[in-house]
Amino acid sequence: MNYSAEHGWHQARIVPYQPITLDPAAKVFHYGQTVFEGLKAYRTEEGRVQLFRPDMNFKRLNRSNDRMSIPPIPEELGIEAVKELTKIDQDWIPDGAGNSLYIRPFVIATEPLLGVHPSHEYQFIIIMSPVGAYYPEGINPVKIFVESRYVRAMVGGVGEAKTAGNYAAGLKAQEAANEQGYTQVLWLDGAEHKYIEEVGSMNVFFKIDGTVYTPALNGSILDGITRNSTIQLLKHWNIPVVERVLSIEEIYEAGRTGKLEEAFGTGTAAVISPVGELNWKGEKLVINDGATGEVSEKLYDNLTGIQYGKLEDPFSWMVEVK
Ligand code: PMP
Repeated sequence: MNYSAEHGWHQARIVPYQPITLDPAAKVFHYGQTVFEGLKAYRTEEGRVQLFRPDMNFKRLNRSNDRMSIPPIPEELGIEAVKELTKIDQDWIPDGAGNSLYIRPFVIATEPLLGVHPSHEYQFIIIMSPVGAYYPEGINPVKIFVESRYVRAMVGGVGEAKTAGNYAAGLKAQEAANEQGYTQVLWLDGAEHKYIEEVGSMNVFFKIDGTVYTPALNGSILDGITRNSTIQLLKHWNIPVVERVLSIEEIYEAGRTGKLEEAFGTGTAAVISPVGELNWKGEKLVINDGATGEVSEKLYDNLTGIQYGKLEDPFSWMVEVK
């Protein structure tokens, strides 16, 4: 679908997957004026195909659009487009547990003009791809490197938008962490390098002395849909959950005194990813003996159970693709 100042959003169309042609001066190439989303379609054992909270993705897309000076996309239109395309591509979802169709809606600024101003022209595109199980051999804890040199986002910047620059800013640290055997980077705040923000593509939670803590939304982390769903489930189960500022020092202190019971990341790709070890400035902190914690496991089983239609959906999260 295209946008022009004159016609607004127009010319919605479905075409076979193919390269697109853009002018080399298109603003997206030079100034990164672009946003994206990520969600999944799941097939139940009875053959129903369903999306997980697509309204949340389009609300977030429009918040990202607003931050990046991109015109909003009508939420209903976006959801309908995802449903139509999923109907066409649903046979690509491989049979078997854990498989799904990953859906990537995105907007790019296409106006060919090198002046640094918001574009007057955009394209909104949806692509999708079958993806296999994130944990083909069962849920497995990851090792995470706490980044103390580079910064990904600052309050007042674009950290809460799902925009390309945030991810580009993280690549170098991510590469270095991978080389040392860590799966992902845990980002600290940009001002003081003290407070926990989020992991490269996940929000983070820590269970300390029976209470689950997660960094409060502060304008520099992504408002994750799995994060939001996790908080709802924990409250539903009467497990205390607190959103507040969390320092890395207090997590290490809880670890040293034996009060840190579990840590896990939340995100569309892995759903729940237990954290077995942190490394902050060379000091390693092994969590729950490097094993998957009880709450992590329960959340994983319940979220995936709801997504694959095996468990009741108490919050009406799933949207059927008819
Ligand atoms: N933080 C970042 C930076 C991410 O890219 C993602 C993945 N979208 C998340 C958190 C988790 O968000 P969600 O649960 O909506 O996938």
